[in-house]
Amino acid sequence: MRTVVPRLVVTQDNEFFFAAAREGRLAIQRCVDCHALRHPPGPCCPDCRSFNWDTVSASGRCTLHSYTVIHHPQDDGFDYPLIVGLVDLEEGTRLVADIAGIERDELEIGMVLEVGFAEHPHGEVLPQLRRPGADT
Ligand SMILES: [Zn+2]
Repeated sequence: MRTVVPRLVVTQDNEFFFAAAREGRLAIQRCVDCHALRHPPGPCCPDCRSFNWDTVSASGRCTLHSYTVIHHPQDDGFDYPLIVGLVDLEEGTRLVADIAGIERDELEIGMVLEVGFAEHPHGEVLPQLRRPGADT
């Protein structure tokens, strides 16, 4: 087990996201007053300034909006190159997550991906972007 990976910073605003991930569910924050979805989680709606929010369960279906391949600086807690994607969720907001099981030269902007979940060294479960139907 790697011990150098930093632990998640869990707050009252994002705890729902990590709790849902532990259940294998992608929860997205929604403003109760104007119904705008937002991610990453925060206390206030950027559209109407409301502090009232709940969550919706996203399907996990998404398309690749952009990605980056991280080579440096390297941290012992991660495998490199580390491919990180920005996807458009079908519900209309975006998510950043690691891409697993797809080589860099196979990635195409607009390709269909799916959100899965993977357990990390401290036992946290986080979203991970994969080919639809892939286990890893
Ligand atoms: Zn709002």
